[in-house]
Amino acid sequence: MAVYVPTFTLTPELADALGSPIGVPVSAPDEDPVTMLWEVFDAIGPASGDETVMLAGSPSDLEPRAVLAHLIASGVTGQPSSLLAASSHMGPAAILAALKDLDRPATAGIVDRTRQSPVAPPHPELSIALRTGEPRIAEITACSTRASLTFDRWADLASSAGDDRFVETALQTEATILLDELLKEAGRSKQDLAGVIISTSHRLRTSALAARWEVREVVQPRASPHGAAAVLRESLRRLAEAGVGATLAVLDLGWGVSGAVLTAGRDVARAAASTEPGTTGTYDYREWTTAILDTDSTGPWTSPQELRRDAPLLLGRAGYKCLACQSVGFPSSHVCERCGKSTVISETLARTGTVFTHTIDHLYDGSKAIQMVVLDMDGGGRFYSQAAKDVGPALGVGDRAGLVLRLVHRSGDLPHYFWKVKHGTDG
Ligand SMILES: [Zn+2]
Repeated sequence: MAVYVPTFTLTPELADALGSPIGVPVSAPDEDPVTMLWEVFDAIGPASGDETVMLAGSPSDLEPRAVLAHLIASGVTGQPSSLLAASSHMGPAAILAALKDLDRPATAGIVDRTRQSPVAPPHPELSIALRTGEPRIAEITACSTRASLTFDRWADLASSAGDDRFVETALQTEATILLDELLKEAGRSKQDLAGVIISTSHRLRTSALAARWEVREVVQPRASPHGAAAVLRESLRRLAEAGVGATLAVLDLGWGVSGAVLTAGRDVARAAASTEPGTTGTYDYREWTTAILDTDSTGPWTSPQELRRDAPLLLGRAGYKCLACQSVGFPSSHVCERCGKSTVISETLARTGTVFTHTIDHLYDGSKAIQMVVLDMDGGGRFYSQAAKDVGPALGVGDRAGLVLRLVHRSGDLPHYFWKVKHGTDG
């Protein structure tokens, strides 16, 4: 399991104006669902063999193979044996059920990033990667789903004066039946549960539910229902708190109910100890409205020919190594820059290095200064690129830094990605 939480927030004034709590994490201007997925695939590391890659959450609107192509070309995942693109309506319990049902190892990347309008308070944004295999972190002990036609009046409730209690009662009834089924399958009782995590768009009275079910705790994370990643992360965090062997139920309530039971494995605490990074940048009103207008309705490149030809060179950090003088150079060349000999072979540059020099560019992007960085890569080669937009204090000469995949521009209304430089040595 790997978690990525972006470090941008709204300015306090903007948060106040939108009625949003202060400090809600939102992605930087050069981050989007693709780069947030990239972060967790990078953190979880490549799979050991043939596997299924599952993409869920916001990126389901993007061409999933183009997303995968970026992950492969940038080296954070290998070629999977199959790609499963989940609907953005797939809740956290349904994602767990799909992973459990697969008969091969899988890595799922799930992103919460839904920006509906410039005047709506933002949902917390984050991404999470889950890999199946030996259940060291948590075992998916039981899964169940029930479809329902009960909620056909539900959609109107926000605008009309519908009876809120009708929805709550209907959800409670369905959820109670499902929870009993799940516990029976898992061979557990309600008293065994460390808690129940619920994802639904309807605000529930969770303490009343806890009393009715006689369970320790019922939690509805603030980001639900557009927050499968947030719900899964919260579930694992609570499992870790409860300790090895503890069980927890995850329920999605809507047009029917889906649920899963998780049992904590021996490494649950280590996996859940994801750090909360501090803020490194903020959106003011103008930037935020621009970011919202800049929708992600189109996918990244969708030309397979172009990707096939260019991606390894563009994202592959393709340099050369000279067999005569042993120097490593970038970009790829047929002749050594240092000794002039043509005895060169291709060499992939490392992702980490040390800042050689930098400059602040006030013209490239009219709205904000951009730091341009020259990085001496570990193992050789010199890389020139922008600093990522959430680089807090500017990078200085001699600082350790790494390359991360970020948005560079949206020429032709298509997002284009390239490496940018960020603090740290872990890439
Ligand atoms: Zn040479």
